[in-house]
Amino acid sequence: MRDHASRHGRTPIFAANWKMNHGPTAAAGFISQFVQRYARHTDRDVVFFPSALAFGAAYAAGQSTPGIAFGVQNVHSADKGAFTGENSAPIAKDAGAQYVLVGHSERRHVFGESDEQCADKCAAAERAGLIPLLCVGETLAERERGETHDVVVRQLTSGLSKLAQRDITTSVIAYEPVWAIGTGRNATPADAGETHTVLRTALSGLIGDRAQQVRLLYGGSVTPANVADLLEAPNVDGVLVGGASLEVDSWLSICQI
Ligand code: PEP
Repeated sequence: MRDHASRHGRTPIFAANWKMNHGPTAAAGFISQFVQRYARHTDRDVVFFPSALAFGAAYAAGQSTPGIAFGVQNVHSADKGAFTGENSAPIAKDAGAQYVLVGHSERRHVFGESDEQCADKCAAAERAGLIPLLCVGETLAERERGETHDVVVRQLTSGLSKLAQRDITTSVIAYEPVWAIGTGRNATPADAGETHTVLRTALSGLIGDRAQQVRLLYGGSVTPANVADLLEAPNVDGVLVGGASLEVDSWLSICQI
C-alpha cells in the first residue's frame, strides 16, 4: 500500500458496509473474532457499518479497540420528530457512531433519494458531530453516455453544498460506480484513479488546498484479489466494501493489505 507521504498524509480507510446482513448475534461474533485476529495497524482506520439493529452489539464488541470505528448506514435529515421507523444523526451519535453513509447507490436508486436529500443528511450528520461518508457514482447508462465525470461532480457538489468548508475537509467521499456494486465487476485501477482525480479537482474548486486532506474511497466489487491494485491508483485513499466484508477471513485480508 502506498505510504502516507504519497497520500499527502491522508490515513487510509477500510470501510465495511454490511447492508441488511448480520443481526446482533452475528455482528458481535464477527467483531469479536476480528479484533482478536486484526494486527492493530496504526496507519489505517477500519470502519464498520452494521445494520441499525445490530449496531449496539457490534459497537459493544469493538468499541475499545484502537483504530476501529463504527458508523450507521443511513440517518433521517431531521434531528428528531414524528418519523416512525427512522433514526436521526443525534441518535446515531449517542449510540457510538462516528460516521454515517450518505447517498449510497441503494439509497439513491432503490429508495429514490435525491441529491438534495443527500445534502440535508450530510448537514444533519455535521450538526450531530458525525462524519458523513458521501457516496457518488454513475449508472451503467450514464457511463455509456460518457457522463461519468459530470454525474459524480454534480453529486459531490450538491451533496456537500450545505456544509461549511471545514466540514467538507473532514468528510469522506466514496466513488462507487453503480454498475460495479455487488456485480463482481470492479472499476479498473486506471478508471478509479481518473475519476478520483476528477473528484479531487472538484473539491479544490470548493475548498482550495484543503482538498488534499479529504479522503476519497473506491467501492464496487472490491475483493482480497483486487484491493492492492486499486489502492495504488492515484487519489484512492481507501475502500468501501460490501460483499467481501461479510466474512471475517476475507475482510481481514482486505484490511491487512
Ligand atoms: C457497497 O455496498 O458499498 C459495495 C461496494 O458493495 P460490493 O463491495 O459488494 O460491491
